[in-house]
Amino acid sequence: MSSTKQVIVIGAGIIGASIAWHLTGAGAKVTVISESGAGGVATPNSFAWINASWGNPKVYFRLRSRAMAEWKRLANELSGLPLNWCGGLCWDLPADRLEAYAAEHSSWGYGIERVDAKRAAQIEPNLVVPPEFAVYVAEEGVAEPVATAKALLADAGRHGARVIASTVSALVQTNGSITGVDTSHGLIAADEVVIAAGVGSPDIALTAGIKLPIETPPGLIVHSRPYKKLLNGLVHAERLHMRQTAEGRIIAGSDFAGGDPGENPEATARDLFAVAKAALRGADGLELDFHTIGYRPNPIDGFPIIGRAEGMDGVYIAVMHSGITLAPAVGLFATREILDGERDPLLAPYGLARFAQ
Ligand SMILES: Cc1cc2nc3c(=O)[nH]c(=O)nc-3n(C[C@H](O)[C@H](O)[C@H](O)COP(=O)(O)OP(=O)(O)OC[C@H]3O[C@@H](n4cnc5c(N)ncnc54)[C@H](O)[C@@H]3O)c2cc1C
Repeated sequence: MSSTKQVIVIGAGIIGASIAWHLTGAGAKVTVISESGAGGVATPNSFAWINASWGNPKVYFRLRSRAMAEWKRLANELSGLPLNWCGGLCWDLPADRLEAYAAEHSSWGYGIERVDAKRAAQIEPNLVVPPEFAVYVAEEGVAEPVATAKALLADAGRHGARVIASTVSALVQTNGSITGVDTSHGLIAADEVVIAAGVGSPDIALTAGIKLPIETPPGLIVHSRPYKKLLNGLVHAERLHMRQTAEGRIIAGSDFAGGDPGENPEATARDLFAVAKAALRGADGLELDFHTIGYRPNPIDGFPIIGRAEGMDGVYIAVMHSGITLAPAVGLFATREILDGERDPLLAPYGLARFAQ
């Protein structure tokens, strides 16, 4: 791929950063516009689990699996990304459903190992009560999300991309095509505009009459102060998802996507932290530092919106939950579609047009 197409990417979270990096590498002249700093809005509040785990149809599993492989490709192309293929231990389902998940995903090629309490204790020696039956996926991992987005943007910058701190107030239309954006710093023209603005995307799209059916459920995650190593990888117990970050913080949600903050988020955070602490041996000195509440940019059917809007040239949309998992595939596929008009078959179910039906 090579092109001198001028592309504006609205958003500097993990999705905008990945798209900007891939577009720049393919020769486009990229301008990233973001009203937040590099790293985004949902992205810093993410649990950041890279996975193709249970609960999704096979077609979406295939996109997620491909994205996991694309993370490895991206890490080869850009050294120093803060990725950790730490593995995930999961028993957040009743045993019969966990077994059904193991059987189904094994048949799809997911690297599943069924484990008993003895093996679980080998994988995570600091669990107070290792599960009698769990599923371990060694190929799951995490990307420290803000550092990853920043690394992608910094490298895109070294290769000519511009990053502008500004607010996009509207898409600019000329003869039925999008030809730029109106910002707090004035008009900026482009051949193509990518909306990767997370929960800010619907308002931007609507200025060109494009409706994005997004809901934004909140998710609460607690962060301990940095602590000695207690966890090797991801732990998904019932109503307790945990991992230890690169800087040593234990982070936990009642769900990886963040639990419901409830009416009193402080109390919810304290209760959740107490549960996490009680689940770990050697955690006597573990202290709650802070909690985050992130708003997930979640299309209403739970699947990503990736692609062009019907009947409107010059605009490309990339809005999704599971953006940490999907980012490298979205960056690659969006770049090919924007520059070469090639839509990857894995994206077939994820056009905006599905909501018109
Ligand atoms: C609690 C929680 C847990 C999660 N856990 C996981 C997980 O374990 N695994 C996983 O894969 N995903 C997870 N996700 C989802 C994932 O974090 C998101 O899908 C991803 O971060 C979205 O990235 P983004 O770049 O699209 O959005 P954001 O990071 O929100 O970035 C949006 C960008 O758009 C900019 N913007 C918005 N409006 C405007 C405007 N008008 N003008 C200029 N700039 C604008 C913002 O400033 C920002 O830079 C989780 C999310 C949450 C909240």
